[in-house]
Amino acid sequence: MAYKACLKVHCKCPRHPRFNPEHGRGGVKAGCAVCDALCDLEAAMRTARLRAADAEQAAAVQVKLLEEGRRRKLSAACVA
Ligand SMILES: [Zn+2]
Repeated sequence: MAYKACLKVHCKCPRHPRFNPEHGRGGVKAGCAVCDALCDLEAAMRTARLRAADAEQAAAVQVKLLEEGRRRKLSAACVA
């Protein structure tokens, strides 16, 4: 079971095109609603990336456990 999660969004505030939401809300000028929304989007994407990483890790563990179970069955069949 292999999959790859890909999430990319390119957004800029028309009034503050140099604002980078990765730097946090401290850079939001004059309470700009667009920059604030970009910060919300950045936080949501960060959460999605973490969840995707967790899912990939869980899938890798599941594959490892399945392979381990197969090996045990094979070695038990060889002994019997
Ligand atoms: Zn802005």
